[in-house]
Amino acid sequence: MKFSGNRRIVAAGAVAALVVGVPALATAADQHQDNTKAASKAIVGGKARNVILLIGDGMGDSEITIARNYQVGAAGRLSMDKLPLTGAYTTYAVQKNNPKLPDYVTDSAASGTGWATGTKTYNGAISVDPKGKPLPTILELAKKAGYRTGDVTTAELQDATPAVLGSHVVSRDCKGPQSMTACPANAKENKGAGSIAEQLVQTKPDVLLGGGKQYFDQTVQGGKYKTLTVLQQAQVSGYHIVTDLAGLTKAPANKPILGAFAPNNMDLEWTGPQPTPNGTPAATCAVNTARDAKQPHLVDMAKKAISVLDKQTQDSKKGFFLQIEGASIDKQDHAANPCGQVGETVAFDKAVDEALKYQKDHPDTLVVVTADHAHTSQIVEAGTKTTGATATLRTHDGADMTISYATAPLGTDQQHTGTEVRIAAGGPQAANVLGVTNQTDLFYTMRRALGVS
Ligand code: MG
Ligand code: ZN
Repeated sequence: MKFSGNRRIVAAGAVAALVVGVPALATAADQHQDNTKAASKAIVGGKARNVILLIGDGMGDSEITIARNYQVGAAGRLSMDKLPLTGAYTTYAVQKNNPKLPDYVTDSAASGTGWATGTKTYNGAISVDPKGKPLPTILELAKKAGYRTGDVTTAELQDATPAVLGSHVVSRDCKGPQSMTACPANAKENKGAGSIAEQLVQTKPDVLLGGGKQYFDQTVQGGKYKTLTVLQQAQVSGYHIVTDLAGLTKAPANKPILGAFAPNNMDLEWTGPQPTPNGTPAATCAVNTARDAKQPHLVDMAKKAISVLDKQTQDSKKGFFLQIEGASIDKQDHAANPCGQVGETVAFDKAVDEALKYQKDHPDTLVVVTADHAHTSQIVEAGTKTTGATATLRTHDGADMTISYATAPLGTDQQHTGTEVRIAAGGPQAANVLGVTNQTDLFYTMRRALGVS
């Protein structure tokens, strides 16, 4: 691994242009103008033709700030910073055995069920209530009402965030027909609706893109498709299957597309220093040269999903619902990997930029950018030690930023945290993210925007 200089490669040209000619760094993005007119113009009620929801998994304010400082500098702005209306939402789950009591630290399954169905549930639940009863999701309701739908992630498609949109199981671990130990009642051989992989294919979003091929390769254990793999089931059901970037690029818009680009999660964008109890010398991040070049980046998947859904709805009264997840912000926070985390946040931000570009030409699109829960990483005084582990990155500003991971002993999984997170939006119904709301309110905001019930 080498860390020097590569950050300049990944920094966009436009970013450099932002700071050119600005006399003092601290004033680079300070606007000082009266924003009243712009804010009131951004408040639009009524229905949206399309909804694009972008979820940065584990992307709390801390993760956003770290990525901003690193990539565009403290006074710079990421694409996700440019949405016109911003609020905060609370993310807590509820206790499985006593759903009247909050579980203050949610996982992606309970929080996903929250925004996807409007109901609070327990950690590990995939769009089922605390009793295990399936709850209709925003994607399912949209599809039923005639919208085209899409579900995109850098994780396994069976991972919690994409799973909550099109499947209902009592445990997030039940990813494939041969991984059903935790969900006997949901298993096909017991007359259940099947694993997450099977149910996603049965729900049949028009676009399904991500990792998790290993679960699509498992064999169905009961029902109509018994003895086929889930991937074969998808093919029989009309899906066009792709497994690499070239296939994705060529995939026609006249068929639903299932892209499974990695056996498990997709490869990371960046690598860099590992934190230690005594810190690290200041370093910059490097492009992950071990990344499989045949895998699309999140922005490639976002572009394709938007273009396919747009084409599919050109002659239709109804538009589309699309979810795009930057999944490994969370996973690299768990792994205490600062460059991993920042690289995924920057890649997610490119997908946000793509959604905002589409919205510019299609102002009847609601774009929401948020997280499912907050996470570990904290910016601490440069060069200091904490009770956990720290690493120091040299940022776009040319200054040193020390990042601490201290929610679990080093070498074990770092933990989610329970603070509220940012929710930002633009387009019809965006005003409903203002103030402090609850994660479950997002379901109702999107439902109102699409006019479905
Ligand atoms: Mg996720
Ligand atoms: Zn997590």
